[in-house]
Amino acid sequence: QCTLVCPTGALTEKDDVSRVWEALEDPTRVVVAQIAPAVRVSVGEAWARGREPDGSGIPADVSGRLVSALKAVGFHAVFDTQFGADLTIMEETHELLARLGSGKELPLFTSCCPAWVRFVELHFPDQVHHLSSCRSPQGMMGSLLRRYYPRLAGVDPERVTVVSIMPCTAKKYEATRPELGTDGRSDVDIVLTTRELSRLLRQAGVDPGALPPKPFDDPLGESTGAAAIFGASGGVAEAALREAYHLATGQTAARPEFHLVRGWDDLRAVEFDLNGTQVRCAVVSGLKGARRLLETGEYRSYDFVEVMACPGGCIDGGGQPRHTPLERVQRRGAGLDAIDSRKPAHTSHENETIQRVYRDLLGEPGSVEAHHLLHTSYTPLPLNELLLGGDGDPAARTGG
Ligand code: SF4
Repeated sequence: QCTLVCPTGALTEKDDVSRVWEALEDPTRVVVAQIAPAVRVSVGEAWARGREPDGSGIPADVSGRLVSALKAVGFHAVFDTQFGADLTIMEETHELLARLGSGKELPLFTSCCPAWVRFVELHFPDQVHHLSSCRSPQGMMGSLLRRYYPRLAGVDPERVTVVSIMPCTAKKYEATRPELGTDGRSDVDIVLTTRELSRLLRQAGVDPGALPPKPFDDPLGESTGAAAIFGASGGVAEAALREAYHLATGQTAARPEFHLVRGWDDLRAVEFDLNGTQVRCAVVSGLKGARRLLETGEYRSYDFVEVMACPGGCIDGGGQPRHTPLERVQRRGAGLDAIDSRKPAHTSHENETIQRVYRDLLGEPGSVEAHHLLHTSYTPLPLNELLLGGDGDPAARTGG
């Protein structure tokens, strides 16, 4: 796990639970939440109803109980970061196909993991232009909750407080990055980890396991199975390949084909034929493998590279329940696959609300407005310059 550990105890994990209470107790605030894919298969481990009733040991999807619990605590609306994941796939697949078409800036590196993005900026600044300009699902969702939700709900956007519930400590840092906001303002106000969510609910005396499930709020609560698998290593690549296959062929992909990119090895490399276009795909689990890929130059052998800093992906992120045995982490991955299987749609464009948001707000993937609200740019930050007090070369900014 990418957990920060200080041997002297001088550094402690940032705890934002009190900030959520302040927002909830302020009658002028409209407090809304978004819940990341990987949280729903980990936070229920402590509850009696957190397991599938079939005895398989696979964690149940407890997102419905979390919606109930957050409403009981006082949240006005609870949305699904999986909607943001479907939107990320729409934009990232458009970007991938554009780069494949032009042959420029290949491979495309995924940018959903803020620890990986920071790693590239600091240690491989010359490769920053490979990073996708797409904001992460948290970032895209934050942008819509700040602008689209208030319009639909008829509330003043200035009154909205956006709280993300993430499996990840690095997502707190991501939310504060100026590059991940819009028009000079952060789109996500507070990030709670899975552990902080459990603390918030304990302080409130709310037992989600005892509550009946409720659906996510409309319309930003809809998602496909492609979004559910974002929480496990290879999931982003698989979701993007399903969408790319649809764009290349007009057909819906058979899911098992792209399942080859999933797994537990440090590096998985698979080549796919998308209607005559070869896509060489690499999936890296953990920064050790990512360093090897970049240092050896092997990354040049691929067109599309997914990296998640935490081995296994967000299902074992730094904000998840601590000291989780590998077997349980793998069961969380199986839990996400089960959610994917149960969904009626498995490719992101099949999300009807995604189509509506493009009609209402964004136009089409890769449009000027999509870039304004959903994309960003990164600056190379050579580590040695930072240590010497420099701040990188602003002229080298790249991306959307
Ligand atoms: Fe966060 Fe780890 Fe997921 Fe990266 S892989 S987004 S660091 S939980």
